[in-house]
Amino acid sequence: MGVDNSTECCQDLLDFIEAAPSPFHAVAETSERLLAQEFSELKEADSWSVEPDGRYFVRRNDSSILAFVAGSGDVAKSGFRILGAHTDSPNLRVKPQGGYVKNGYRQVGVEIYGGVLLATWTDRDLGLSGRVVVKEDGGVESRLLQLDEPLARVPQLAIHLNREVNSKGLLLNAQKHMAPIMGLADSSDEFEDWLAAQVGATTKDAIQSFELMFHVLEKPSFGGANQEFIFAPRLDNLASCHAGLVALLAGAKTSTEATRIIALWDHEEVGSSSATGAAGSFLEDTMRRLASDSDEGGETWFRAKARSSIISADMAHAVHPNYADKHDPHHMPQINAGPVIKTNASARYATQAETAAQFAMLCAHADVPCQNFVMRSDLGCGSTIGPLTTTRLGIAAVDVGNPMLSMHSCREMAGSADHGMMIRVLERYFLT
Ligand code: ZN
Repeated sequence: MGVDNSTECCQDLLDFIEAAPSPFHAVAETSERLLAQEFSELKEADSWSVEPDGRYFVRRNDSSILAFVAGSGDVAKSGFRILGAHTDSPNLRVKPQGGYVKNGYRQVGVEIYGGVLLATWTDRDLGLSGRVVVKEDGGVESRLLQLDEPLARVPQLAIHLNREVNSKGLLLNAQKHMAPIMGLADSSDEFEDWLAAQVGATTKDAIQSFELMFHVLEKPSFGGANQEFIFAPRLDNLASCHAGLVALLAGAKTSTEATRIIALWDHEEVGSSSATGAAGSFLEDTMRRLASDSDEGGETWFRAKARSSIISADMAHAVHPNYADKHDPHHMPQINAGPVIKTNASARYATQAETAAQFAMLCAHADVPCQNFVMRSDLGCGSTIGPLTTTRLGIAAVDVGNPMLSMHSCREMAGSADHGMMIRVLERYFLT
């Protein structure tokens, strides 16, 4: 299969991913793109005045973001069209007192964030990103940091010292084996001094705290003999964030009765239970503000919810030719064969017959094929923001996502034709 009109939107996705090594950068990049399309930022602490057809966004913790185009209709009669995705990806995060010296090396202690495929992080050139809270001249501010240089590495043990690694597998202990090496002990500065210099702080004492994480430096790219693929870090789930954002922006100047929202949350990979995560109040708080009016019984909120819908978009498992028996033989999503509807009888996915049918019909109207995924019956099923948001809000949802391989590797792969298809379906969702 050759490359279709997805090329341009895929290249834009690759640029988006490169600009977003951390959730903070994903939100910053999303904000910039929204501002460029005349969206205005609302602050949660301020009083809001939302105009029909107005374009707005709101951030929480600078790592989650909601963007919406206000509906032109009565919210009680029109409801909300919601697309949810997540800004975070599994990675290695620097501990508060990260820097130390061992056996003549300068190393950085890391926590494992989310379900990291640890082996993929070995022998990679690593950059560093995140935010640093700096106190100077009496003021405190968060500064974004993105260092796209080969600063660190988690070297594997030589095979001569680990003779059984290929027969017994690579065992990696998160505490003992994953601390990246950033230098030698006679390097001139310690981690905190070095960090202060990177964020333009005068001394290391100016640094109050930080949330920093490593990322791989290999550039996101098209791949495969015919560019069938995209090879990139963080496809799970920046690809869905990007698809939602592009779809919202494409129709942002078209008036619709329903309010269209994209909800891009942090903390999905660690369970979503936080003020910024999908189990938190961010989306509900925002929707309530948009639905609040003078009706005394507060019926607007409930009526609006009953007319609302949620698409939870997160990446899906394509069948892997070397491990095809990990899939149910009748549910083997293929790369570049369209978005996948995910179903689980134990409600690990939010999909129900009616929401699945609605999504399949959206695909048909957008002239896009769609596929189905269900786990093998003897394997446990992962989950998504879908069940969390549908439980919290009581709004029916469908779990979907584009097929991919290497999920939770530091470098993943997906299909170059699928991305444009997902965007087309989401555009239709927002505008019909
Ligand atoms: Zn995900």
